[in-house]
Amino acid sequence: MGFARVMSQVHPQTLLIALAIEYISLTLVTLPALRIWPKDSGMARWSVGNACLAVAMALLSERGVAPGLLTVVLANGLLIFGADSVHVSVRHLYNAPLRPLWQRLLPLACWATLSLLWALDPSPGQLQWAGGRVAAFALALLWSAGGTCYALLRRAPRPWSLGTWYVFVAMLMPVAGQASRSFNFAHAAPGTDPVLALNSAVPLYSAFAACGVFMTYGFFLLLNDQLQAQLQAANARLREDAATDPLTQIANRRQLETIAATEISRAHRYRWPLTVLLLDLDHFKRVNDLFGHAVGDEVLRAVAEVCRKEVRGHDLVARIGGEEFAVLLPHCDLRGGETMARRLAEQIRDMRVDLLDGAVVTVSIGIASLLETERTLGPLLQRADRALYRAKTAGRDRVSLDESLT
Ligand code: GH3
Ligand code: MG
Ligand code: MG
Repeated sequence: MGFARVMSQVHPQTLLIALAIEYISLTLVTLPALRIWPKDSGMARWSVGNACLAVAMALLSERGVAPGLLTVVLANGLLIFGADSVHVSVRHLYNAPLRPLWQRLLPLACWATLSLLWALDPSPGQLQWAGGRVAAFALALLWSAGGTCYALLRRAPRPWSLGTWYVFVAMLMPVAGQASRSFNFAHAAPGTDPVLALNSAVPLYSAFAACGVFMTYGFFLLLNDQLQAQLQAANARLREDAATDPLTQIANRRQLETIAATEISRAHRYRWPLTVLLLDLDHFKRVNDLFGHAVGDEVLRAVAEVCRKEVRGHDLVARIGGEEFAVLLPHCDLRGGETMARRLAEQIRDMRVDLLDGAVVTVSIGIASLLETERTLGPLLQRADRALYRAKTAGRDRVSLDESLT
């Protein structure tokens, strides 16, 4: 009761001035964000939109006092442009392509129609075309708010975040307000100014008041969503880079250590065997000397690829030194490791690298299996390294097993 009484006594001009203050405040609070967010985030256009709405509300409050060119033509132009700016901002945010020309011109056409109707009857007291003006404004508003909702429906990541819901609901408010205004205005006395008629104007102004806060807060949430997504993607890339050898794109030593720690504790827990192969290319310095460093790199990439293809899904191939590779074989005993090592050596011998003029690449491999007393990768690798040394001294191009278990 109290609320209805207050609303029936409030001056539409007062509401409009309150709205102008609200939208100016919303513009001001977004200004510092312009320095933080990138130009293409839509933030700038959002601030422009809020500023246009603020000036429009201030101009509307002068209806009947200041010239109609300002309070009708300019004010409605700013309202329509402001609402369209919100739509454009959301499209910017999602990197949506430019709308077709006719879609961009439609709000302009609504505004031109509205202005023409005003020009046909600019007298403040005896409005002939007020219904047409309300309809033209309603269409422009519906077009922009509907376009924003459609952009969210098509482009916002699912499930919708709180920010998406805020902006979506904010867009429904002026549409509902305008619908109520149009209904009330249709029942107003002929000649009523749609901006000053209390019954018709209050629902729309109330909707604009609530919408301003919801949409600007929602837009900040949307910007934050995007930043979070970008950070997560950057983190995933960094994690990937930190675990990958840049030359061969297989795991590096750090990644081997990480995975090995998990696999070693699992091997102990379930009493599974675990074997590691240590590969070192034979006389690799000669490859570099004879064919150049670039060809040497190509050979390293080819060896990595051969190993990667040959191992099982849960095995891990890592480049742990210049021309040294390690293969971690969970759930595989020394004999299984030997079979795998011979297969790898054969595949590497058989591989053909362009620019190597048919020269054959061979490899020496040391093999060791996890002992019950070993809790870390270090000692296991050391035993594989000793086996590798024996393969080298025995003439290279061969595999050698660590004797601790045999
Ligand atoms: P062996 O192991 O049979 O005893 O002889 P080797 O010639 O392979 O021995 P050594 O370990 O002394 O030499 C390794 C060479 O690998 C030295 C270096 O020029 C080369 N190398 C290391 N890292 C890279 C790399 O990233 N690219 C290329 N092209 N060569 C590398
Ligand atoms: Mg070496
Ligand atoms: Mg070598």
